[in-house]
Amino acid sequence: MGAHESPAVVTPAAGPGEAYGVVIVGTGFSGLGMAIGLKKAGVHDFVILEKAGEVGGTWRENTYPGCGCDIMSLLYSFSFEPKADWSRMFPKQAELLEYIKEVVAKYELEQHIRFNTEVTGAEYNDADDTWGVTIAGAGAEPGEVVRGRALAAGMGPLHQPSIPDLPGLDSFEGTTFHSAEWNHDYDLTGKRVAVIGTGASAIQFVPRVAKQAGALTLFQRTPPWILPKPDRRVTGVEKALFRRVPGVQRGYRNGIYLMQESFVLGFKNPKLLKAASGLAKWHLNRQVKDPELRRKLTPDYTMGCKRTLVSSDYYPALTRPNVEVTTEGIAEIRPHSIVTTDGAEHPVDAIIFGTGFHVTDAFEHAHIVGRGGVKIQDAWQDGVEAHLGVSVAGFPNLFLLLGPNSGLGHNSMIFVIEAQVRYVLRCLRMRDAAGAGRIAVRASAQDRFNRWVQAKSEGAVWVAGGCTSWYLDRNGVNRAAWPASTVNYWLRTRRLDPADFEIAGKAAS
Ligand code: NAP
Repeated sequence: MGAHESPAVVTPAAGPGEAYGVVIVGTGFSGLGMAIGLKKAGVHDFVILEKAGEVGGTWRENTYPGCGCDIMSLLYSFSFEPKADWSRMFPKQAELLEYIKEVVAKYELEQHIRFNTEVTGAEYNDADDTWGVTIAGAGAEPGEVVRGRALAAGMGPLHQPSIPDLPGLDSFEGTTFHSAEWNHDYDLTGKRVAVIGTGASAIQFVPRVAKQAGALTLFQRTPPWILPKPDRRVTGVEKALFRRVPGVQRGYRNGIYLMQESFVLGFKNPKLLKAASGLAKWHLNRQVKDPELRRKLTPDYTMGCKRTLVSSDYYPALTRPNVEVTTEGIAEIRPHSIVTTDGAEHPVDAIIFGTGFHVTDAFEHAHIVGRGGVKIQDAWQDGVEAHLGVSVAGFPNLFLLLGPNSGLGHNSMIFVIEAQVRYVLRCLRMRDAAGAGRIAVRASAQDRFNRWVQAKSEGAVWVAGGCTSWYLDRNGVNRAAWPASTVNYWLRTRRLDPADFEIAGKAAS
């Protein structure tokens, strides 16, 4: 990476009781992207609150064996920070974390970060149009409140592990842990291990666990659609080309972007996914010869309804003699076993949950109070929604990064993050140019946008594809997935209509 050219002025902390320009939560791609965006715009009075002792977000939290990204490295990185020496086409967790740390160092972000500082709530102060963010943890004073004239929440939409409330789970005497809280102290060698869940995380760690465990029983509720993963090392010639020939790396990146983006055409038009689902079936049939196992692993819903996965080592792992795939539901957990609905008892020493995250219900217990004392739960009585996934009416100067309906099943989330950072900067500019203290999306604009989201989602593959997923809330409404192309998102976040916002109050003097 070349030298960072942002101005040298740094205001790492506001004075006692003073408000920061922006309080950012989290040091994943969202929070860091926001921080870099601010620095590039010449804004330096921001603080980043990080609950852990290290940066990295998703790529710090998830350390399960085999953890990596199923979007290619050349695309899954900041557009303004290309890395010419990715070791693999699909990056692993350690390399992504290293990349994130390099970015933090280059943009001198560390001095803005308060580590071991967990946000426990946020309240809007109507009198001075600031957010009071309550913090806890080793990095905070007891009862400490950090104030900001804006709050950018980058906690990540897939952050709170979800562990199903299975009957008898409390009575289990073995070891249990979630994929995002991997217990590296527990030696799986020779153990009888149960894995519950077959999503994007599980299919990455199952092949590793299968090699180590004595026996692995995989509890599958719904088989995922899986495409082959064209992973390989990036060659020395490619790296040299990326470094030396202008445009080559950008060309690769754009090519991968377009290839990923082409999947969007199938969301409304599942017939177009025929070729891809044919490839997935071919992949299954080639790797799994046992007809009974094949039957279990064959999805009965439309491809794209859940996130389509990529793996070339998952199916082979399931054909190992020490691996059993069970499709019966889980009836009960006993101290040393799992009993399925067919009455079979599976003795196990450890249960690993690959059961995903709280997404549409992630804010159910959050303490976020907007203007006039309105709680976020009241604003979201009918379901979580935000204008372009970022702004919520009644919550001025609050910006959710990767908020409702800004998730992608088909392309790089970093593309969305960069668009959202531009959106936030535009909002702050509109507010500041008007000499105002607050900017809030109007309820009418948010409603109009969400009516469009739901109309676009109607008949789309997530809603009508014959499956459930974390895209949908408990009423089956799409609350997580962006229902159109990323180009559409980029355009919408590029041109904000000032009429969609209420810009009012007085800027702090
Ligand atoms: P997930 O996709 O939500 O999968 C959860 C799995 O647990 C599903 O197979 C689900 O079955 C199963 N499950 C949940 N509750 C269950 C229960 N009570 N009994 C039995 N099975 C149960 O979670 P994830 O694999 O952690 O992935 C979450 C998201 O993280 C992904 O969709 C993706 O966006 C992201 N991710 C990305 C990558 C990447 O490479 N980019 C890697 C990992 C994760 P059902 O399908 O039947 O609900």
